[in-house]
Amino acid sequence: MQETQRTEISTLGEFGLIDKLTENLENRNASTRKAVGDDAAVLHYDGTTELLVTTDMLMEGIHFDLTYTPLKHLGYKAVAVNLSDICAMNGTPRQVTVSLALSKRFSLEDIEALYAGMRLCCERYGVDIVGGDTTSSLTGLAISITCLGEAPADRIVYRSGARPTDLVCVSGDLGAAYAGLQILEREKRVFSGDGAPQPDFAGKEYILERQLKPEPRADIVRRLAEAGIRPTAMMDISDGLSSELLHICKQSGAGCRVYEERIPIDYQTSLVCEELNLSPLTCALNGGEDYELLFTVPLADHEKVAALQDIHLIGHITEPSLGAALVSTDGQEFPLKAQGWNPLL
Ligand SMILES: [Mg+2]
Repeated sequence: MQETQRTEISTLGEFGLIDKLTENLENRNASTRKAVGDDAAVLHYDGTTELLVTTDMLMEGIHFDLTYTPLKHLGYKAVAVNLSDICAMNGTPRQVTVSLALSKRFSLEDIEALYAGMRLCCERYGVDIVGGDTTSSLTGLAISITCLGEAPADRIVYRSGARPTDLVCVSGDLGAAYAGLQILEREKRVFSGDGAPQPDFAGKEYILERQLKPEPRADIVRRLAEAGIRPTAMMDISDGLSSELLHICKQSGAGCRVYEERIPIDYQTSLVCEELNLSPLTCALNGGEDYELLFTVPLADHEKVAALQDIHLIGHITEPSLGAALVSTDGQEFPLKAQGWNPLL
């Protein structure tokens, strides 16, 4: 009898699975400049402009819950998260293709609402919808979007370029999307009871918007270019600051120190965390879905980057032997752990 091996995918996690599937992948084309392993692939054809490609798949019940996610918002977010990956390469998003799998539960009006959100996001960021596919599904809605973008070859920023003494920067604020999700989940539980009161979202508009309608930081890419700053490494924050910092450190062969008191957390996030008995710091480090940009710049650019609004200096890159750690407000060091969201568990 032949013995077959069975390994549960949950023992690998998402990144372990990706590593397994893509180990020893061969590139057969000179045009493949960067394959798997960054926010987007980089393809080289003629001239000095490179083509960037990224793709994302969203499954109902895994990535979104339609009991509290309006379809128009979902469409907007599905496009926005793809544009964010092109921004994370220091590129400009140009086109998307949109593929949908629909169950009978969805009417034309539902899908028009979803598409209206997608079109709104494309319009706002100057992106064209150029194709896609629609098919049926037995179990709900699946959305797969591929985004194409471009960047001059000498402007592309990978995850691997951070060097010791570089400054670690983050745009916007962190943890709000996760706090927003916790509020939506709580109201869903309340709402499902008999004679449930109307959900109370007053004073929580910002964090709900951060969860339901994130914006790709194309403005940061533009402003860094205007300021004459080229980040040495960059990625967007989809899984949480800790996880993304570890990616940059690993791929750059470096360590880092980030400081608790410098991590930007919005007032509304802190208030809601208090209400829900959550640590705002944990939300910022491990919450994810912020879609802010995490990047490193040479120490020589300190003044230039410090002058930019909505960008926070949170630490610096170190020699690899020092590891990646968070320095708490009382000066203690805690190793960073990738406790980011694992969709396969
Ligand atoms: Mg990314």
